[in-house]
Amino acid sequence: MTTLPTADDLARRAREAAGRCGVDLDRLAGDRPVTSPVNGRPLASVRWQDAADVDGVVIRAGEAFRAWRTVPAPVRGQLVRRLGELLREHKADLGVLVSLEVGKTTSEAEGEVQEMVDICEFAVGLSRQLYGRTISSERPGHRLMETWHPLGVVGVISAFNFPVAVWSWNTAIALVCGDPVVWKPSELAPLSALASAALLDRAIAETGAPADLGQVVVGGPDVGEALVAHPGVALLSATGSTRMGRAVGPRVADRFGRSLLELGGNNAAIVTPSADLDLTTRGIVFSAAGTAGQRCTTMRRVIAHVDVLEQLTERLVAAYRRLPIGSPTAEGTLVGPLIHDAAYKSMQDALQAAQQQGGELVVGGGRRLADEAPDAYYVEPAIVRMPEQTDVVRQETFAPILYVLPYRTLEEAIALNNDVPQGLSSSIFTSDQAEAERFLAADGSDCGIANVNIGTSGAEIGGAFGGEKHTGGGRESGSDAWRSYMRRATNTINYSGELPLAQGVEFPI
Ligand code: NAD
Repeated sequence: MTTLPTADDLARRAREAAGRCGVDLDRLAGDRPVTSPVNGRPLASVRWQDAADVDGVVIRAGEAFRAWRTVPAPVRGQLVRRLGELLREHKADLGVLVSLEVGKTTSEAEGEVQEMVDICEFAVGLSRQLYGRTISSERPGHRLMETWHPLGVVGVISAFNFPVAVWSWNTAIALVCGDPVVWKPSELAPLSALASAALLDRAIAETGAPADLGQVVVGGPDVGEALVAHPGVALLSATGSTRMGRAVGPRVADRFGRSLLELGGNNAAIVTPSADLDLTTRGIVFSAAGTAGQRCTTMRRVIAHVDVLEQLTERLVAAYRRLPIGSPTAEGTLVGPLIHDAAYKSMQDALQAAQQQGGELVVGGGRRLADEAPDAYYVEPAIVRMPEQTDVVRQETFAPILYVLPYRTLEEAIALNNDVPQGLSSSIFTSDQAEAERFLAADGSDCGIANVNIGTSGAEIGGAFGGEKHTGGGRESGSDAWRSYMRRATNTINYSGELPLAQGVEFPI
């Protein structure tokens, strides 16, 4: 008896969902197959554009910019309001596409679309709050102020694992800031990208905004490279591996463009002796095994005090054995497939390396459903006890492997948390306020996200999202991340009728 949906069934569901979102179905007749990780079979096919197409796209976006930048920001907000309404209306459709293209469970896929709705609502409010400061001048009869202006064309390169939310974080904010967006989605998830872009096109048409404010270029890394190199792209926002960021960052800097890099993570939780182990176990399992370990914020390390390590590991192992693994569209599934065979291979390689480096595999690591779907890669999330933080632990393996490490003093635990190249997310589980504060202090966690009594993943859009070191240093989404999408002008206004110079400089003519 088969438990996975048939290829025909998935293809039909994808086509219908894309059609309801307004995708021109002729675009689903290209020569590039889109593979579903749910069964490893073709879901649709699309036509890829190539690097030569990017120039025309950026030029059209530049023309849209010149019109859009003079539209008042609260009016720009009306476009984003409509986009948010359409996303809400098509939450289930987009959720289906995300689920079928990248293997997220229905709940997580719809959660991703909810995040898109949330950022639109945030951006609509922001459209009336793009505040500058008024600053005291040292000169009588003078005033200093800051004005924030639209920046220019924003290029967005996104990763497979948040195929649409990352675009929306950038797009909702960019549009209210007065900037058009050119999007190069992951080549693994073009359908959900085309569907999101179709909804934006509809919002643009209905609100009378310039047609080329939102454009999508479906293609491979060469299209990304063309966007990176294009002098007409004022801000390049790139989400993906550290390897990709290492190629992109210097190229953009070389032409004095702005970049916003959201790269790999290697996120840890410290579990102290006073932690509530029930809550801790649930928090860890969601962050470590959810999304089959394929979030940038996935928890990859647990740093547990020696007094609780045994008990915690037992609880985690018991919870891992109960995890329902299978088709992401089936009710009750909590762990779907890995994205492709290369992800499976990197998981197996890492498990082997960990054991060679002294680790003990305590649960998981095996493959599931291989007979039924030889080209789909379902795995049992794994836990490996490590005596110390070896090389393999310090790398990001984009799969559900959780390394458990011991510590004796909080200083040692914080040092282990920070002793990896990446700096995205981190957490501490404790009932001791002093320990929590110590973790959040200047000499505590060095990550962009530091949590208390909650896992490392599942951020809300209200805060700024991003991390330090090899995670790239960018901040997106809420708080004041909008400032990256605008240029700041400092204005000095003289109403004194005199011309005193700053710093008391004399220049008598
Ligand atoms: P990836 O680096 O393979 O690809 C990401 C995107 O970059 C794709 O669209 C790809 O076509 C493009 N690309 C690749 N090489 C390029 C180049 N030289 N120039 C321009 N574009 C190029 O990443 P992936 O496998 O899709 O995603 C997984 C990775 O993304 C993980 O490392 C994960 O941690 C990271 N990620 C980070 C965040 C974050 O916010 N920090 C969020 C999601 C994913």
